[in-house]
Amino acid sequence: MNLIMLGAPGAGKGTIAASLQEILNIPHISTGDIFRECIKSGTELGKLADSYISKGCLVPDDVTIQIVEDRLSQEDCSNGFILDGFPRTIKQALGLDNYLKRVGKKITRVVNIVVSEEELVGRLTNRRICKDCKASFNLRILPEGTTVCPHCGGELIQRDDDNEEVIKKRFCTYHEETEPLVEYYLKRRKLAKVRSEHTIEDTFENVLCALKLKGI
Ligand code: AMP
Repeated sequence: MNLIMLGAPGAGKGTIAASLQEILNIPHISTGDIFRECIKSGTELGKLADSYISKGCLVPDDVTIQIVEDRLSQEDCSNGFILDGFPRTIKQALGLDNYLKRVGKKITRVVNIVVSEEELVGRLTNRRICKDCKASFNLRILPEGTTVCPHCGGELIQRDDDNEEVIKKRFCTYHEETEPLVEYYLKRRKLAKVRSEHTIEDTFENVLCALKLKGI
């Protein structure tokens, strides 16, 4: 399966993609995670990405498309992949279509996770990620006072771009640049819309239903 997870910041794309990776045994590819790794390692790409990410803007399309092409060319993607946070612009979607055509592949389905903006803000400001395993948690769900990752014991930290000012800008960027992709994939009959107002478990069940994977 070649999947794309679409949705506003905080919709839960990464969490759902991580669970899908477990059951489908195909890699979860998050462009946000790739950029954060580069920032941590202090590479030139990391410096460039940081100058956009810290302002809530998108990293330029040509750089991002190249990174994804390189990643998709790796052996572990031969049986499928789950893209999380890519494409984020029409230009990226066209770049991806172009690449897939060249290598004789197609997108199977695009899962659009839909959440109200009020809920999204609550999720982003309460989001903590594990410094080590990168798992994402909602402070409202964790037992009070939790400071380490329930999975691996790593330190829980807040992403630099999960602050109110940058969140606002990220929403604007999402509406302007990414939302047109809903129409793009709808026209190509690839889109599956999944509402996510309740627990992550409910959302995951709905995603499995949308992908006709329930019971595997
Ligand atoms: P995420 O972890 O998906 O929320 O991404 C964090 C940030 O990384 C975004 O706000 C963007 O600044 C940058 N980013 C991630 N994916 C992309 C992409 N496909 N195109 C451009 N910038 C991206």
